[in-house]
Amino acid sequence: MKKILSVNAGSSSLKFKIFAMPAETVIASGKFERIGIEHPLVEIKYGDGQKFSEEAKVKNHSEAVQILLDKLLDLKIIASYDEISGVGHRVVAGGEFFKESVVVDTNNERLIEKTFELAPLHNPANLMGIRAFKKALPHAVAVAVFDTAFHQTMPEENYLYAVPYKWYENYSVRRYGAHGTSHRYVASVAADMLGRPLKDLKLISCHLGAGASICAIKDGKSFNTSMGFTPLAGVTMATRSGDVDFSAVAYMMRKLKVKNVSQMVETLNHESGMLGISGKYSDSRDILEAAEAGDHRAYLANEIFERSVIDYIGQYTFEMGGVDGIIFTAGIGENSQETRESIVKKLAFLGINLDKVNNQTRGKNTFISTPDSKVKVMRIMTDEELLIARDTFNLAK
Ligand code: ADP
Repeated sequence: MKKILSVNAGSSSLKFKIFAMPAETVIASGKFERIGIEHPLVEIKYGDGQKFSEEAKVKNHSEAVQILLDKLLDLKIIASYDEISGVGHRVVAGGEFFKESVVVDTNNERLIEKTFELAPLHNPANLMGIRAFKKALPHAVAVAVFDTAFHQTMPEENYLYAVPYKWYENYSVRRYGAHGTSHRYVASVAADMLGRPLKDLKLISCHLGAGASICAIKDGKSFNTSMGFTPLAGVTMATRSGDVDFSAVAYMMRKLKVKNVSQMVETLNHESGMLGISGKYSDSRDILEAAEAGDHRAYLANEIFERSVIDYIGQYTFEMGGVDGIIFTAGIGENSQETRESIVKKLAFLGINLDKVNNQTRGKNTFISTPDSKVKVMRIMTDEELLIARDTFNLAK
């Protein structure tokens, strides 16, 4: 039995899960938070419900990784470092360099450095995590799994923007998408649920969390996706605007006398979306509750969010020439029966009937359309960490 670590490193945090492979059982999970800030905290869940947490002073990711590994030994989650045969890392942007998961040798480290501009908040932190684990576990295979890699199969007409072609040629400006690991994972589960080969299916995956994206999956490959050059584009999100006419932003820069365009991008990322419309809430639970209590702007925020999801489902159904299955996943998609019900009802003309009982079940993958529905709708729990562990296990073999 091999142990594989699945890691998501942020600028001041490090989340992880340890899988026993090939059984795919989680043997521990946890996080290190506030790395390099005051009161860093390490938390580990393991065994049958045991939990360990401790403040541990660390200045950087290297120190955090060392403490984390020592704790895994102390808690007897691993008997020695050698038991960990691979460490898989989530990397947000892979640009056009990475079309699939890769073993991170020095050449790939250099290529990841070249993608920093595409995800300045995430990729440098992701690489820091990779280097820290490579130093602490030189024998373990380091693997990078990119959020964008799945979308590298999109045809040109779906990834190019209608801007001067030189922007793409000289500066690689194009649609990259995101959430690729989640879309790829839920698509494979959907194929199992439908009992048909993934390569024969037309699927639309709706990853609806605080960040949300829709993906058209044709012949098992990403065919189109709603996020763009960055995760700002596409559907309305918790605090992100989704698609907006750039001229409106330029106009507001003049009105507000904003000189720095980054400030506007900040507003579009953090003060827009459902928060922008409602003026109060970004969490869909709060939005739904307030809407129910008669708050018109909360109602409007939810309507705009749902409509933007439906717009993409419609667009992708036409682009693929039909759809066999629609998937709901991530925070809202997995947990909000109200949102699922409301969207599915608006899709009734596709021949979809809601299975009200199934839609109320929690915590498992299920069909939420009735068996006689022409298009099947599924609620699927995403598991990006498991897919990272699978890719790592396969590449470590
Ligand atoms: P991200 O990974 O993008 O931060 P998640 O996929 O974790 O987002 O989703 C978080 C969001 O899921 C929350 O902001 C909340 O809006 C939504 N959510 C979680 N649980 C529920 C629920 N029971 N009902 C409605 N929305 C929920």
